[in-house]
Amino acid sequence: MSSPWGKSQTVPVMPCSLEDVMSEQLAHELQQQEEKESQHVGEKRTIQEILAAASESSETTDDWLLAQMLQQEFDREHDQTLRVEEKKFNGNNKVSISFENYRVVHPAYQDDEEEDDEVDPDEIENRKSAWDSPSPKFNKSGVSGKGKNITTKHDAVICGRRNASKIMDFGPDFHSGDGEGIDMKLSNKVYNTLKMHSLAENKRSQRLHEKKEFSTSEHVLDPRTKLLLYKMVNNGTLESVGGSISSGKESVIYHAYGGSKNGVLLSPECAIKIYKTTLNEFKNRGAYVDGDHRFSRDEFKKNNPRKVIRIWGEKETANLNRMKKFGIPCPAVQVLNKHVLVMSFIGEDQIPAPKLKDADLSLEDLEDAYDQVVKMMDTMHNKCALVHGDLSEYNLLWYQEKVWMIDVSQSVELTHPKAMEFLFRDCCNVCKFFQKAGVHNVKEPEKLFNKITGLNIKGKGAEFAAQVQRYDKERNAELLAHQITMKEYAFDYYFEKSQQDRLEEEEEDPEEVVEERNDPFEYFYEKSLQDKADQSQQEVGSSEDEEDEDDIEEELRNADVEKMDKIKLG
Ligand code: ADP
Ligand code: MG
Repeated sequence: MSSPWGKSQTVPVMPCSLEDVMSEQLAHELQQQEEKESQHVGEKRTIQEILAAASESSETTDDWLLAQMLQQEFDREHDQTLRVEEKKFNGNNKVSISFENYRVVHPAYQDDEEEDDEVDPDEIENRKSAWDSPSPKFNKSGVSGKGKNITTKHDAVICGRRNASKIMDFGPDFHSGDGEGIDMKLSNKVYNTLKMHSLAENKRSQRLHEKKEFSTSEHVLDPRTKLLLYKMVNNGTLESVGGSISSGKESVIYHAYGGSKNGVLLSPECAIKIYKTTLNEFKNRGAYVDGDHRFSRDEFKKNNPRKVIRIWGEKETANLNRMKKFGIPCPAVQVLNKHVLVMSFIGEDQIPAPKLKDADLSLEDLEDAYDQVVKMMDTMHNKCALVHGDLSEYNLLWYQEKVWMIDVSQSVELTHPKAMEFLFRDCCNVCKFFQKAGVHNVKEPEKLFNKITGLNIKGKGAEFAAQVQRYDKERNAELLAHQITMKEYAFDYYFEKSQQDRLEEEEEDPEEVVEERNDPFEYFYEKSLQDKADQSQQEVGSSEDEEDEDDIEEELRNADVEKMDKIKLG
């Protein structure tokens, strides 16, 4: 066949059938054949062999091997220059930046000889690039030469070269390209634009880095939280902090061995709950705080995540304390420090008690567990005036033949606008779990709800739920109509309730003196004390909030290494 580019030999094209081309079997055979060949090549040419061949510098005619050897040589040279650049970049700075990630040769294949031919960083400093043509020496007034040959330091060519060489000193992320071999000159205007861009990029990447560092995310704690834990170990509150027990959407839990605080021993084994800072969920969870007179919605409005997460710690602490007071098995609060809550550990030897969902219980134990949960819900409502709000087999632990209630940061007061809706949801979760597990006599959720609340809402399922919501709404409307603040309402509620309880108890056993009762005066006295304490704690907290991030980093760096070892955070 002839063509303007010359003659080409025509290879006769063998006709083949479409069936052959489409044949899966043929494709499979071809694939196998190819794999076999590539395996063969792989076997023949291991990297060690290439290195051996390269070091022996024996002559070879194998193109593939030659190409590999050249590539190896090229990669090594690249790494070597990188090392020198790294040294030059870091100089004598205390903080150094590693270029390790940019290396090409796998560390396993870096041979020792590399160390021998390390280049002195000064050498590269003195290495002249092509655009580094000798620049004239200027006197004090910035002038060089005499007569016709006079040049000033503002000479456009000299400035241009100087600018071009200076961009090579920009950060490693700045792709300045390779100016070697070109007499590159940059005008002051171009240089300044590039410099501004480089600075802006640097700042941006720093901001990204900070964002990553200062958020409490999966298993990685931000320096602020680490410092809090470190301080707790340092002042003896905790003996040591161990591995992570759980990392959920809203918090991370670590195991710790307790120390002592103000001469009081902490529980020997503790669980540390650290509320997360990076979640939108927290914003959504405003619904749980809305209407809880104990916690101001203002904090949510401020939208400062660090302050918002503290509310969860405060809520969980207050709720656990109240539950403990009325005998509900739950973790005992040990210390609350900002968004870090230390509580007693439910479990032994670092192994947390199983959740009801995971506990392998006999039917007898399950029936017992059901009775306990129902009793707990009753106490929670009628004594603590709280609704769990997220009650299920996930937040109930089985330990020492007892059910323990946990995770009450979102629990709400009965005065909460959605309290009854939350309670009915809790009833549904509990009944569903025990029903499925095969427990006999599990009440219908509607009946359990009515039993706990003393209400007489009719209907079933969605219809019942709608009525519960209507009940919540009407109660809220009533509150608004009378312009009763949540605090007053809570007071009325407790007052009425304490009167009612007293009457009931007297009816039951007129002789018995009941010590523990929901006295509204006691409740609000305690509350006002607590509020004051909280307020002063918050004031201290907010001033600490302004701590410089650099100070935190600095403190962490200076932290006693031995004590830091006691914080494993595995
Ligand atoms: P979250 O809000 O992330 O669900 P939880 O308070 O439910 O947080 O805790 C998550 C898990 O950590 C629990 O399911 C439980 O296994 C474990 N846990 C939490 N508190 C304790 C504790 N005091 N003792 C033992 N294990 C705990
Ligand atoms: Mg939970």
